[in-house]
Amino acid sequence: MRDSRYDILFEPMKIGPVTAKNRFYQVPHCTGSGWLRPRILSGLREVKAEGGWGVVCTEYCSIHPSSDDLPYVSASLWDEGDIKAHSLMTEKVHAHGALAGVELCIGGARMPNLATREVALGVVSQPNTEGNPFQTRAMDRADIRETRRWHRNAALRAKEAGFDIVYVYATHDYLLSQFLSSTVNTRIDEYGGSVENRVRLIREIIEDTKEAVGDTMAVAVRMSAETNGGGAGDGNPVPGETREIFNILGELPDLWDINVSDYSYEMGLSRYVQEGSLEPYISYIKSITSKPVVSVGRFTSPDTMASQIRRGIIDFIGAARPSIADPYLPKKIEEGRLEDIRECIGCNICYTGDGKGVPVRCTQNPTMSEEWRRGWHPENIDIKGSESKILIVGAGPAGLEAARALGQRGYDVLLAEATRELGGRVSLEAKLPGLAEWARVRDYRVQQIEKMNNVEIFRESNMSTEDALDINADHIVLATGSRWRADGFGNNNRAGIASLGPKAQIYTPDDIMSGRFPEGPTVVFDDDHYYMGSVIAELVRRQGNQVTLVTPADIISEWGGYTYDRWRAKTQLLKMGVTLTTAHNLASCDGNKAVLSCQYSGQKHEIECQSIVLVTARSPSDMLYQSLVRRLEAGIEKSPQSIKRIGDCEAPSIIAAAVYSGHKYARELDTVIDRDNPLKHDRVFFEDR
Ligand code: ADP
Ligand code: SF4
Repeated sequence: MRDSRYDILFEPMKIGPVTAKNRFYQVPHCTGSGWLRPRILSGLREVKAEGGWGVVCTEYCSIHPSSDDLPYVSASLWDEGDIKAHSLMTEKVHAHGALAGVELCIGGARMPNLATREVALGVVSQPNTEGNPFQTRAMDRADIRETRRWHRNAALRAKEAGFDIVYVYATHDYLLSQFLSSTVNTRIDEYGGSVENRVRLIREIIEDTKEAVGDTMAVAVRMSAETNGGGAGDGNPVPGETREIFNILGELPDLWDINVSDYSYEMGLSRYVQEGSLEPYISYIKSITSKPVVSVGRFTSPDTMASQIRRGIIDFIGAARPSIADPYLPKKIEEGRLEDIRECIGCNICYTGDGKGVPVRCTQNPTMSEEWRRGWHPENIDIKGSESKILIVGAGPAGLEAARALGQRGYDVLLAEATRELGGRVSLEAKLPGLAEWARVRDYRVQQIEKMNNVEIFRESNMSTEDALDINADHIVLATGSRWRADGFGNNNRAGIASLGPKAQIYTPDDIMSGRFPEGPTVVFDDDHYYMGSVIAELVRRQGNQVTLVTPADIISEWGGYTYDRWRAKTQLLKMGVTLTTAHNLASCDGNKAVLSCQYSGQKHEIECQSIVLVTARSPSDMLYQSLVRRLEAGIEKSPQSIKRIGDCEAPSIIAAAVYSGHKYARELDTVIDRDNPLKHDRVFFEDR
C-alpha cells in the first residue's frame, strides 16, 4: 500500500461548493478531438478518472461561434448537441468518483473563425495573433454585453452537461488576458486604462458565472503568474501587476489555476525545462489569496508533488502531460506501485495533435486516444489467444513494447538484442544534449519485463537468419530499427546528393551517437526537420567545432514547431554561435568546401567545410526480415506462422510510432481484426438534429 509520506496527496479538497476526492487535478489540455470526436474524447477522459485523478477537465471550450479555432480543435458549448456530447464525458468521469471541469474560452484575437466566418471580437482592433491576415472588431459596449451573455449561457449549458467546475479563462493570450494587458488594452472606456478597469470584464464574468451556476458549481480562474511582467526569462519571474489584480479578484473564484503564459516554458520540453520548474513563478500566489491553487510542473515524482504541497506552493497537483503518459499515475502512487509509473519524457508529441488537428498521441502511452476507437486500455489487455512462442528481434522502443505487452498477455516471449544495452535508439539518443529523459521509454518497459517470468531477454545476441529459425518460434517479429543514411537522400534530394567528398569526412547521427566525431568546420545538413539536426549541431558546437546548420526549409527545426521545440532550439543555437542557413540545399561537398544552393533563386555559394553531418532520412534495417521472408518463400521444414516487421524496421518514424507499432502488434496477435473497419470512426452525429 501507499507510503504515508504521500497521504497528503490523497486528502479530499473542497473547491467552493464541490469536493475533490484527492489533490490530483488534470488541468485543461488539448486533445485534438474536442467537439469533432466526442467519443474518443470521453474515452480518454474516462481512463484518467478511473486512474485516480480527482478532477478531470476538458480542453479550452468555445462559448460561441465567434470563438472558432479550427483547424485547432477546441471543445464547444454552443448548443444542445454540445451538451449531449459533453455528457458522454461527465457521466464517465462521475462514475469513477471524479469531478469534471470545463474551461470556457473566449478567443479574441487568437481565434481566426475560419470555419464559422464570424468576425472575431477583440479588446481593440488588432491583427490575428496566429498570423492570419484578419483583424478583430474592437468590442463596443453591446459586444461586451453579448459576450457576457454568451459566457453565462455556456456556463448554464455546462451545468446541464453535468460539469462540477467551470473556468473563466484569462491567460494564454485569449480575449480576457488581452483585456488584462496594459500593452494590448489601449481602450479609453471603463474597460481600459487602470488595473481596475482592465480587470473589469474578468470580474464581471466571474460574478455572472457565480450568479448563474455558483450554487452547485465551482468557479475556477486560469491566469498567468506573470501579468504584464514581460517575462524576464526562465526562472526569473516578473509578476507585473499580479498583486494588484489579486487585490481585486483574489477572493472571487473558488480556485486559482496558475500558469505562465509562455507555452515553451509552461509545457517546456525536457530538453529545456525540468520537473517543477514553475515553482519560482507561482510560489507567492498562495500568500495573496486564501483560495486553493493548482499549477503544473510535469510532475511524475510523488516526492516532488508532496513537497510542493507541504511547502505551501500549491494545493492541487496539476497535470496535463503526466496524465497523458500515465492516466493511472494517482492510483499507482496510492497502491504503492511507484515502479509501475510510466513517466512522461517531456517530448511534446502529445502537443502535435493540437497543431495537426488529430487525436492526441503519446510516446510513452500508446493507448492514448485509442480507448474508445480501438478499445485499448492503458493498463489492461486481453489474455493470450494461443500457446504461441514469440521471438522478437531488437530491443528498441518497438521491440521492448511488443515484449512488454505480449508478456502482459501471457505469451512466452524471447527478446533478442544484438548489443549489451537495451533500448535501441532511445538509449543512444538519451546521451545527446538535453534528451536524457528519452531513456524513460526504455526504463519503464525493462522494469515491467523484468517482473515477468514468461519474457526472456537475450543480450549480445546478434541474430542471423539461421539463429532466428532455429528457435522454432511460432511468430517472429523484427524490430531491428533503422540507420541514418549517408548519401544525402531525403525529402529535398530524392536521388541523394551525388558529390559528397571523401567518405571519411561524412557523418550521420549514428556515427556521432557511437562516438565518431567530426573535425574542423562542420556543416550539419538537416533535411529531417525535427530535433535531431539541432541537437547534433549543438553537440558538435560544444566540442568546439565551427558549425553551420543548413536546412532546405525556411525555418530551423520546422516540424519542431508542433512540439514547441523550434523557437528554443534556434535561440540556443544562436547563443552558442552556430551559423544558421535556411532555404538552402546542400549541392555538393569536396572535403574542404560545401556548395549551398538557394531553394528559391538557385544561386550557389561556397562555405568552408571539413566535415559534413547528414541528418536526412533513414533506411530500415530489414535485412533479416527480407532474408527470413525469402527463406520461407523457398520453403522450409518447420516455418513460423508469421514473420512481421514493426517500428523503424517497417517504416522509420518518431519514437511514439515505434512504441505504438509494438503495442499494436501485441494487441492484435491471435485476434480477428476487421480489415475494412479496423477502428471505430468517431464523428458528431445526433439523431434529433
Ligand atoms: P525501433 O525504434 O523500431 O524500436 P531501434 O533502432 O530503436 O528500433 O532498435 C532496434 C534494435 O534492434 C537495436 O537495439 C539493434 O541493436 C537491434 N538489432 C538490429 N538487428 C539485430 C539483430 N539481427 N539481432 C538482434 N538485435 C538486432
Ligand atoms: Fe509526455 Fe511525450 Fe507523452 Fe506528451 S507525448 S505526455 S510529453 S511522453
